[in-house]
Amino acid sequence: MKRKYLRLVILFAAITVIGVFSFQLFWVNKAYNLEEKQFNERVHVALSNVVREVQQLNQDSSALYEPVKQISSNYFLASTNDTLHPYLLENMLSQEFQARNLTLPFEFILYDCFTDSIVFGNVVNLEKEAKNVVRQTSNRERWNKASHYFGVYFPQKDLYLVDDMGIWIGSTIFLLLVVAFFSYTIWVIVKQKRLSEVRADFINNMTHELKTPISTIALSTEVLSNPNISQDPERLKNYANIIKEESERLKKQVDKVLQMASLDEKRVELNVEEVNLHDIVNKTVTGFRLILDANEGEVITDLKANNPVIKGDPTHLTNILFNLVDNAIKYCERQPRVEISTENHKNGIRLRVRDNGIGMSREEQKHVFEKFYRVPKGDQHDVKGFGIGLNYVLKMVKKHGGKIQLKSEPKSGSTFRIYFPKSKS
Ligand code: ADP
Repeated sequence: MKRKYLRLVILFAAITVIGVFSFQLFWVNKAYNLEEKQFNERVHVALSNVVREVQQLNQDSSALYEPVKQISSNYFLASTNDTLHPYLLENMLSQEFQARNLTLPFEFILYDCFTDSIVFGNVVNLEKEAKNVVRQTSNRERWNKASHYFGVYFPQKDLYLVDDMGIWIGSTIFLLLVVAFFSYTIWVIVKQKRLSEVRADFINNMTHELKTPISTIALSTEVLSNPNISQDPERLKNYANIIKEESERLKKQVDKVLQMASLDEKRVELNVEEVNLHDIVNKTVTGFRLILDANEGEVITDLKANNPVIKGDPTHLTNILFNLVDNAIKYCERQPRVEISTENHKNGIRLRVRDNGIGMSREEQKHVFEKFYRVPKGDQHDVKGFGIGLNYVLKMVKKHGGKIQLKSEPKSGSTFRIYFPKSKS
């Protein structure tokens, strides 16, 4: 699938998900509002009934104008015009609410209408208290405080309403799960797509990297097989050198692919022995002498670590350093200057490889340790590689129980810091 189509598919998928979610939100909101409206109506009727009962008890025939008022979403006021006993009120309220299936905790407060002060307040939990076992009393009991209106407050109204919306919550959870799976699928597709692109790049690179030296060697051997060549020893030497250099290049590439292939087997066994890191550094630097001379570059070593012996596999440790120095020289557009230093750090050794190369942006740094990743350079294919060197370095450092850090800035250079513990943990 082309990148453009994939982007379109993702865009449409995102729009669909947002659309479905908006509809779900709209319906959930509508259902909640309806639920709330019904709740308010039931409370209103219950409180109106209580007011009427109180009036009947007091043989009060006066007509009350709007005796029940909703003050806020969960607070209602009811005026009775008559003094009433709080226990009787509690009894009436409980019975009315239960009759309307309003079994949630409520608080009721009796007010004195002359001073607007609270004369009684209580919390009733209808869910916990046994139904119908509310305090039995009558209005004839002594209650000598004036109380002409009362308030009822439902602290858990929202929770009660949400509780009643089980089906909506269930469907929202299912929708969320569908979205989660959907997003995961898209993520896998994008990842697979990147991987297949990266793989295609790798195959292209490898074909080029392996084919070029082979064809150069083939051409040179053709020239060398000419019987007249023995009369021109200078030319003969030249072609022999070309074959040597190209076969060395070929060996290097094959080694890199083999390094990676061996890592893929997952069961790479390290041949652990006591290794002197300084010896490895010196040996690697010597190996690069020729290339550096050709580039007029230099490697500066500053080996400060005392007792630089660690437990590790000398072949892999050499490869790690080789890859880092090789990159430092490869990705440099001026005279390469590579600094290698060591120091003791937290019961181990810290190795630092610093270069004055082209550096990497933050985004690129996030990916350079991934397998087959190469910093995109548009159509420029001046520096060849497979994108496996740093992945190998990372895996091997970890295998030695170490850690690797990269600091880099475009155009200023990069620094790789590796920590090796003294004994592999
Ligand atoms: P390769 O060099 O074979 O492409 P690597 O895994 O060694 O693969 O490196 C991955 C990418 O990281 C390279 O393509 C390069 O763009 C970038 N890179 C690695 N080392 C350096 C460095 N020292 N300076 C700048 N860029 C680097």
